Amino acid sequence: MSELVIPAELLPEDGRFGSGPAKVRPEALAALASSPLMGTSHRRPGVRGVVARIRERLAELYRMPDGYQVILGNGGATSFWDLACVSLIERRSSHASYGSFSRKFASAASRTPWLRPPLVTEAPFGQGCLPAVEDGIDVYAWAQNETSTGVAMPVGRPAGAADDALVLIDATSAAGGIDADLTQADALYFSPQKNLGSDGGLWLSFCSPAALERSARLTAGHDGRWVPDTLNLTLAAANAAKDQTLNTPALATLILLDEQLGWMLEHGGMGFVTARTADSSRRIYEWAQACPCARPFVADPALRSPVVVTVVFDGTVDAPLLCRTLRANGILDIEPYRALGTDQMRVGVFASVDPDDVSRLLGCIDWVLERIVD
Ligand SMILES: *Cc1c(COP(=O)(O)O)cnc(C)c1O
Repeated sequence: MSELVIPAELLPEDGRFGSGPAKVRPEALAALASSPLMGTSHRRPGVRGVVARIRERLAELYRMPDGYQVILGNGGATSFWDLACVSLIERRSSHASYGSFSRKFASAASRTPWLRPPLVTEAPFGQGCLPAVEDGIDVYAWAQNETSTGVAMPVGRPAGAADDALVLIDATSAAGGIDADLTQADALYFSPQKNLGSDGGLWLSFCSPAALERSARLTAGHDGRWVPDTLNLTLAAANAAKDQTLNTPALATLILLDEQLGWMLEHGGMGFVTARTADSSRRIYEWAQACPCARPFVADPALRSPVVVTVVFDGTVDAPLLCRTLRANGILDIEPYRALGTDQMRVGVFASVDPDDVSRLLGCIDWVLERIVD
């Protein structure tokens, strides 16, 4: 069965539909290949100019409020969780956990020796929840887009939270594809290998004045906590103010990110990217609803992600065979997240993905289904 060869005229122009790392636009790769900056010092004006432009472009894309700063460092969103446990959570955090990524931050907090065990509110995969509000909570944390399940949650300060509680939003797969009002978060953080069309290894965060003040106090280490330099947000902020990172960043990641932000802004910024991801995702959700053997995995239409679309197949479809057949034809990475059932597919429709390629993907899926469903 894996011998099926999809007619070339049906295939998408670009077969990358992964949820991260995800499609990097060929134009950005070409710009990288001809960049004179690869192999030059990250402490010199060339690379620092790229970092400065990234910080300015992110601020423009998100209409960054006064007093907020764009801060960056090495290690990706996963490192930011550890950094938050050192530099942002004072005593106790409250997390919403509704998939693998939101769960991982709760787990990191639960293993931090100087913190009280976190409060964790859980929802089953495919559903969403927000963190519970309680006295004594100084950080509220959830993911704007839970990449493992395709659930998108709103960003807004929880009602009843203490005035000085911080809101930390994991926007790794949302940033550059779903809008957010930054005044509603104290740190909205992400890695650039999803909508932002770059490679991994970096974390970036919009940080509010309250987050920066909290970090300055906690990283002074008065409460005896261990503050390694790589997890010190205040040190990262001092470097970012000079358009640098604490230690050597991957220059290719920075150059690709800068290219992608330039492309987004040139085409209209947030309005452009959100219209594009809404268009792409709508095509798949409508297809799944019309298909007799498929349905959207996320039952509540209000929580369906515009950037990571999950679809469940019924018993007549061998979903692993479908994914394998598409892979053999150059359509990549639509297998479900590893913790989810195998009767699914997950399609990353980040800003780089052309909506017409999404329609071609669906045409290919129909073509294969006609041949594998008995
Ligand atoms: C991809 C992803 C992460 C992990 O990012 P890394 O760069 O691998 O650390 C964290 N959270 C969400 C929501 C993600 O999609």
